[in-house]
Amino acid sequence: MLNQQVHLPLLSKNNVSLFIKREDLLHPFVSGNKFRKLKYNLEDASSGGFETILTFGGAYSNHIAATAYAGKKNGFKTIGVIRGEELQSNWLENPTLKFAFEQDMQFKFVSRESYREKKQKGFLKALEAEYGSCFILPEGGTNFAAVKGCEEILTGEDAGFDFICCCVGTGGTLAGIVNASLPNQQVLGFPAIRGGFIKEDIRKFTTKKNWDLKVEHHFGGYGKVTQQLVIFINDFKERTAIPLDPVYTGKMLFGVLDLVKSGFFPKGSKILVIHSGGLQGISGMNQVLKRKKIPQLDL
Ligand SMILES: *Cc1c(COP(=O)(O)O)cnc(C)c1O
Repeated sequence: MLNQQVHLPLLSKNNVSLFIKREDLLHPFVSGNKFRKLKYNLEDASSGGFETILTFGGAYSNHIAATAYAGKKNGFKTIGVIRGEELQSNWLENPTLKFAFEQDMQFKFVSRESYREKKQKGFLKALEAEYGSCFILPEGGTNFAAVKGCEEILTGEDAGFDFICCCVGTGGTLAGIVNASLPNQQVLGFPAIRGGFIKEDIRKFTTKKNWDLKVEHHFGGYGKVTQQLVIFINDFKERTAIPLDPVYTGKMLFGVLDLVKSGFFPKGSKILVIHSGGLQGISGMNQVLKRKKIPQLDL
């Protein structure tokens, strides 16, 4: 995808250049890395003779939206196991679930307690008893096939960058980027969640060592949004015309610019930031912000 240069006084002052790879432009609604992660999984489901794809996610999940859309497009039935029984009564007000429903995804709403058991054999057996044989994708969609898809984010044109920055949820996207990176490139991951356990997970998918996590910019944890973050995202969009999402890419860009400010990047560094998408989540987040009386994200 297109690498777009960003011009900000902070960047020229610190003598670094910054480009954003616009993976968010892959599709207007289901953008970014979730498409990459689904590509080889859909091939596997198809060659395995499966008609149905079953997966898991929260109420605003980019992965649920992408699976519903890509599944329908490729002729699969899709089932979404959704966290939160309370959504059963009002899910049509949720923009992500409404979109997935319009792609014919069938939902199963489960309590937070049951949802935690989603990796247990008994839970999966019960789902198969209910829906028949399904191709099962893990929450967030990360497996070896997903990592292989994310290896296609970088291309030969990206060889000149010194640093490559990306968001981290499960770390599958980072692992793919690391696998595709050159030995002289440093890959920096910005976790959108709190906690240090992700490194072990990432090492399951890459043996290379030219990567690190910058863990200071989660803004309180997964899906947590502050007024400071909203103001940053709105301001960034006004200056660059590039929209960021509040769960992943907004926090990462805040982190990258913070590192620029602190002099982390040597003078002359060429930085590539991967915009992994997630923009479908903005209107759902605005509903939450409105309830909390926090300013909303500009659309
Ligand atoms: C899911 C997601 C990520 C995180 O990807 P992982 O492979 O789980 O680390 C990053 N950005 C966006 C926009 C996402 O939707």
